[in-house]
Amino acid sequence: RAKGDGRNRYRFFDTSLDAAARRRNALEQELRAAVAADALSLHFQPLVDSRSGEIVCAEALLRWNHPSLGSVSPAEFIPIAEDIGLIGRIGTWVIRKGCETATAWPETVRLAVNLSPRQFGTPGLFTMIESTLRECGLPPRRLELEVTESLLLNSDSAVESTLAAIKGLGVRIALDDFGTGYSSLSYLRRYRFDKLKIDQSFISDIETNADSRAIVDAVIRLGRDLGVSLAAEGVETSGQYELLRRLGCGEIQGYLVGKPMPAAELERLMDSHQAWDDDRITA
Ligand code: C2E
Ligand code: MG
Ligand code: MG
Ligand code: MG
Repeated sequence: RAKGDGRNRYRFFDTSLDAAARRRNALEQELRAAVAADALSLHFQPLVDSRSGEIVCAEALLRWNHPSLGSVSPAEFIPIAEDIGLIGRIGTWVIRKGCETATAWPETVRLAVNLSPRQFGTPGLFTMIESTLRECGLPPRRLELEVTESLLLNSDSAVESTLAAIKGLGVRIALDDFGTGYSSLSYLRRYRFDKLKIDQSFISDIETNADSRAIVDAVIRLGRDLGVSLAAEGVETSGQYELLRRLGCGEIQGYLVGKPMPAAELERLMDSHQAWDDDRITA
């Protein structure tokens, strides 16, 4: 009987592996087609100042609405885009579309764009960013690029000089998913970021887990001492918001404040008198 179970399990494993490979194959083909047909879109998720509640930034997040599969997560298709050599083209499109969109926003609102490590391997990244900002007329200080630690993990001097050149334009550099990498602290010494985004895994249980709270508290102090801005991602409850505000976290992002949404919806939100209604935060 045990033998039979084992065989069944093996067969099941085999089949699911197959299914994953088939999906992957299909996604590769269809991602190429989607890019060619300009079928990707951007949503924007607001970040608010924790004290004033005003929108100070919005993060561009890629969306792919596949005709039969429905919405495919960027967490799934970005790695595919990297593997099949499409990330340069997609990344260029995101920056262009994001900058064009952000020119319609109040001058106090920055645009945040995610950059994958592989984009640093594509030629002309600096020139592309510089010319896009110039052509769209977006002041460089209104652009914030989100990178992850993996960028610096095996980085060569080319990566660091590209980062320095981009920063030299006045563009801000944020470290995304802070706390989930391997050795965050050494990067802080090697590279002066403008902002740290505390990963949502530390935020989700901040109200109930004293350890998470202690870590977030320490990170916020660290940011303050280093002169680096702090943002919290994945804030879903008013309790988390209040706690983060009390701890001195400058910016808040998460479903509580707003889910990623089409540009037109964000613009309506920015137009309405108060971006983020304080009544919803009950301390
Ligand atoms: P990220 O940059 O860390 O983005 C945050 C992710 O958390 C987004 O998922 C966002 O929708 C989600 N999120 C925001 N607030 C909450 C919340 O309160 N609760 C929960 N549970 N989730 C929240 P999304 O849009 O699926 O993006 C996943 C990842 O895909 C991003 O993580 C980013 O690494 C990558 N990505 C998205 N757009 C781009 C892009 O244009 N270029 C590159 N290179 N990567 C991108
Ligand atoms: Mg991000
Ligand atoms: Mg993040
Ligand atoms: Mg994250």
